[in-house]
Amino acid sequence: MDNCIFCKIINGEIPSQKVYEDELVLSFKDINPEAPAHVLIIPKKHISSLNELEKEDEHIISHVFMVAKEIVKELGIEKSGYRIVTNCGEDGGQTVPHVHFHLLGGRSLQWPPG
Ligand code: 5GP
Ligand code: ZN
Repeated sequence: MDNCIFCKIINGEIPSQKVYEDELVLSFKDINPEAPAHVLIIPKKHISSLNELEKEDEHIISHVFMVAKEIVKELGIEKSGYRIVTNCGEDGGQTVPHVHFHLLGGRSLQWPPG
């Protein structure tokens, strides 16, 4: 997608600190971390938000969680705990219109979020 920051990160136009990559997903460090461990996991396919998710994308989203399971081991937060969040739309606080999952850990996280 033209003008999508995350599509530009996927195609290398914008640099990122990669954590994991395969044919379906990319993971990289969030530029503005909210926790000691804060990475984003995104599908390589441009999907604007969860509202635009199609049945055919189901395998991509389940793959995101399988990948997250491995990344938390790399980050050393498997035992201490972590949170995976996806923001959708204005009230959800979504600022980048390309589906992404925040993986946060490395400190005690508050609940409910503000
Ligand atoms: P949202 O607010 O849409 O849920 O999350 C977007 C996230 O993307 C934010 O946490 C923000 O810090 C991160 N972000 C925005 N632009 C860039 C960028 O160019 N590079 C990286 N690594 N993260 C970004
Ligand atoms: Zn995109």
